[in-house]
This record gives sequence, structure tokens and C-alpha cells, in this order.
Amino acid sequence: MWKILWHPLQLLTSNAFNRAIVKVSSFEKIDLDLIEELRGKINGVILDVDETMGPHHGDPFPQNIEHVRQMIASGRQVVIFSNMKKSDRYAELEAMGVKVITSKYPKPDPRGFIECCQVMGLDPSEVVMIGDNFGTDGGCVNAGIDFIHVDPIKTEESVWKSVKRLPQTLSRSLFKYVSDIHDDAMGRLVLRDEHFGEGMSVLDMSHHIGQLLMDELVGDEDLLAEEVK
Ligand SMILES: [Mg+2]
Repeated sequence: MWKILWHPLQLLTSNAFNRAIVKVSSFEKIDLDLIEELRGKINGVILDVDETMGPHHGDPFPQNIEHVRQMIASGRQVVIFSNMKKSDRYAELEAMGVKVITSKYPKPDPRGFIECCQVMGLDPSEVVMIGDNFGTDGGCVNAGIDFIHVDPIKTEESVWKSVKRLPQTLSRSLFKYVSDIHDDAMGRLVLRDEHFGEGMSVLDMSHHIGQLLMDELVGDEDLLAEEVK
């Protein structure tokens, strides 16, 4: 019983575990070239599929498959890391050379993520993980892999199915909530939707982040003036 409680508690309180360098509303928004300029080379991508690329147990959306195609075209390796056994809904991605990895160390075990890096022949520092769940996909951070969080894609399903999945969806929301609190409390800089807008250059983005940082440091100017008095 203690063990069942201990694992989620450990995850919720771990600073590293709830960390994402990017938090965006959809997979399409992710601009790896832009992220790369800030954090260093990205030569490999580990992907989650369910609710990241398409609905739960559904086919990945065509625009997301296209986005993966562009990642590969720009010279990056892409693998899918799934806790589920193989499925034919990956066929289109596999035809593009995307390998599907199911490890004996399922997510969030860091050893599974390391295995993905080994398959690509890359160091964890050159790899990012993209997924919708801090509680599973976010385990990559403990393997030294940066995490990119995507808001989960809404799934149309029966009431019975959504009730059955409630513990999973609730825990996912809780992990996201705790991560946001950590970001605020520690003043972490996280790239969000607005940083990936049309025409946003790295210079614009650095300026924007600098402004955020200044706001964080200086805080409310009126309040500051009050304190000086
Ligand atoms: Mg998922």
C-alpha cells in the first residue's frame, strides 16, 4: 500500500520530474529549429502518440504526421515510445522510417528512454521527448532528456470509457498543475504558444523572454516604489 502511494508522491515532489522546457497547446506548434537555437542541438525526437498526435487509441492526425515528416526531412531521427503493444495505426509513420519502441521498462522508467536513445545512437542531451503526460512521458527528464509538453488532444468517447479513464486523466491534470506551480514558484522560463507565432525570430523571442525575466525580477513597479519609500 505504502509503495503504491510513495511512487506518485515522489513524482509530484520531484523538481526535475515536473519540468518541461516547452509547454504548448498542440503538437503542430512545436518548432524544433527555434527551440534548438536556445537549448542546443536536437538530433533525435521521442514521441508519444496517444493524445499527443491523435485521440486516445485513435489514428494520428494527418497534420501531425506531416509535422513528423518535416522533422525527419530536417535530418532528425524520430522514434515512438509506447507502453502499448504494436498497433497498425503507426503504419504511416513507420513507412517514413519511424521506429516503434516498446520497452520492458515502460514510461516513466528512465531506462526505457535511454533505450530509445540507444536505438537512435544518440546521447540523451541531443534528444527531446514530446508528450502529453508528466506522469509517464515526463520521466524522460530523469534520463537527462528535455521534455516538451503538449496539451492532450480531446477524445470523443462513451461516458463509460471516460469514467474508466478518470484516474488516468485526473492524475495527468494533477501532474500538469504541480508543474505549473513549480514554474511559477521557481521562476522557470518555459517556451509557450506565443513564442512560436508566425514570424517570431530568435531575437524577438530572446527579447520577449528577457522582458519576462525582468518582470519577474522587478515585479510590480508601484509595489517597488512603495517599498523604496
Ligand atoms: Mg499520451
